[in-house]
Amino acid sequence: MKKQCEHCSKEIQGRSDKRFCSLDCKNKSAAVRRADTRDAVVEVDKWLHRNREILLTLMGNSNKEQFDRALLTRTGFKYEYHTGTYLNKEGKMYRLVYDFAWMEFSDQKILIVRKKTT
Ligand SMILES: [Zn+2]
Repeated sequence: MKKQCEHCSKEIQGRSDKRFCSLDCKNKSAAVRRADTRDAVVEVDKWLHRNREILLTLMGNSNKEQFDRALLTRTGFKYEYHTGTYLNKEGKMYRLVYDFAWMEFSDQKILIVRKKTT
């Protein structure tokens, strides 16, 4: 069976365990993968910053506030992007977005707290 280079699809000569036709293609392929990873990181950063902006706008100067999940959803808040998680004493899972944390207070309500800066 003929194998094709994973980068340029040219037929590979020689050893059958090779994935690339040349060192050049191997290097280029690695560069593409690195760029993809970089783009993904930039994308996540973008959503995280947007999430923080949304929380900042909603919270104003408040340290603790409940919001309708529907409202948060309407702002374009991305629930899946957070900078970390923690469990409080009651076993409730908080998701962190930089200096804010939020949790599902109920099916309809999201509780947002501002983390104390100490
Ligand atoms: Zn190639």
